[in-house]
Amino acid sequence: MIEKRNFYINGQWVAPSVTHDFQVINPSTEEPCAVISLGDQADTDAAVAAAKAALPGWMETPAETRIAMVEKLIALYAERSEDLAQAMSLEMGAPIDMARSQQVGAGSWHLANFIRAAKAFPFERPLGDHAPNDQIIYEAVGVAALITPWNWPMNQVTLKVGAAAIAGCTMVLKPSEQSPLNAMIFAELMDEAGFPPGVFNLVNGDGVGVGSQLSTHPDVDMVSFTGSTRAGTAISKAAADTLKKVHLELGGKGANVVFADADEKAVKRGVLHMMNNTGQSCNAPSRMLVQRPIYDAAVETAAEVAKGVTVGPAMEEGRHIGPVVNELQWGKIQDLIQKGIDEGARLVAGGTGRPEGLNKGYYVRPTVFADVNNQMTVAREEIFGPVLTMIPFDTEEEAIEIANDTPYGLTNYVQTQDNVRANRMARALRSGMVEMNGKSRSAGSPFGGMKQSGNGREGGVWGLEDFLEVKAVGGWAAE
Ligand code: NAD
Repeated sequence: MIEKRNFYINGQWVAPSVTHDFQVINPSTEEPCAVISLGDQADTDAAVAAAKAALPGWMETPAETRIAMVEKLIALYAERSEDLAQAMSLEMGAPIDMARSQQVGAGSWHLANFIRAAKAFPFERPLGDHAPNDQIIYEAVGVAALITPWNWPMNQVTLKVGAAAIAGCTMVLKPSEQSPLNAMIFAELMDEAGFPPGVFNLVNGDGVGVGSQLSTHPDVDMVSFTGSTRAGTAISKAAADTLKKVHLELGGKGANVVFADADEKAVKRGVLHMMNNTGQSCNAPSRMLVQRPIYDAAVETAAEVAKGVTVGPAMEEGRHIGPVVNELQWGKIQDLIQKGIDEGARLVAGGTGRPEGLNKGYYVRPTVFADVNNQMTVAREEIFGPVLTMIPFDTEEEAIEIANDTPYGLTNYVQTQDNVRANRMARALRSGMVEMNGKSRSAGSPFGGMKQSGNGREGGVWGLEDFLEVKAVGGWAAE
């Protein structure tokens, strides 16, 4: 059993102020795999105080120095990549090959993109030629609380820490209590990279404890949160009294609009994308909208592809999908699958219960529902499991209407070989991101949503800007 009870505060690993053990469960076996501590108000206060004390010095550090430290961090991250992959595989169930490539890979990718963005970013610039005595200065927001989820843990931690560090913010990270081990390795890397004491702090805890303490703390200037819309609402309310800046990356219910002229791999691609990470991605293409002439064939293909997706333990190598993260999520997914059946959707692959031969572990059958209408629960709620819903449509207008008829607005997808229509769809879809014909977004592209998917943008230059205040100076003298 791994024992990691300490927190990283002011450059040191320190014991929690009060003993409050928490068992991390391995979702592949349902057995405890580690013990951590849940922090108390005194731990949160100590971490925030360290971050506050370190802020003036870190803000004054030249941006080039901060960038160089993140470059060092990238090198150290590469050295510990296997440890990070093993940790994520153990605690949140990412199959080990996928953890090595996608989960760990996402972290180095984001850090490298921040370096590129920051090197070209004008932290100070004139307002314009018309105003020679006006200067615009971008400076750190201040002490940032970073609250992250378990589903893409390193992805989220690096998106927040990388940007905050370069922007000159000091920070307190509270990773998900479901997947704390990878974040604790990351804290070791921050220490090794030589960030000054107090710049980066980590306190483990749950939402009602450390999460709320950070959201209400008078010395925290900003909360950057990724997780459920439920928690995003709670944090926004908690942060209101101290008028913190609140940056939210929340859930999604993405539409994948497949037109009759889509390329032949579009349906298969959409199903596999949905199943990746066992469906636990906020940007999953969970509603496949298919144009009527190819609908029956698409349903057949989707069922076949889903039946071919294998499920197995996270520590085994291979291209299977792993369990979902915990018992709570497993139960929620089972209820939603049952609801789909009860509300009249046509089950064409998977269903309730565990896949054959897997009697222990939070395993879910890769599931496809056909003949879904957009008002059914499975089309409205984020399932966060390997469950695809398929909805037929006739016209482009109808597809847009169905796709946009959701409280979410994170990523939508379009499959058509008609380029003019593809671009028209990209403009019409109400989401922070649109990906077409299997092309994902490139390095430095902003990640974030509209509506109840949140209000922030992470990654690249937009990610940096979210951790920066804009200061406008009049009467600036030429230097
Ligand atoms: P969650 O909201 O329960 O937890 C996320 C984090 O918030 C955890 O660290 C948790 O301890 C903390 N938390 C929970 N309640 C809190 C509260 N009241 N105050 C402060 N902190 C609180 O979500 P989860 O179950 O860990 O993650 C799944 C959700 O996250 C899904 O809805 C998913 O779509 C979303 N998500 C969104 C993105 C994105 O970028 N848009 C990325 C990943 C996950």
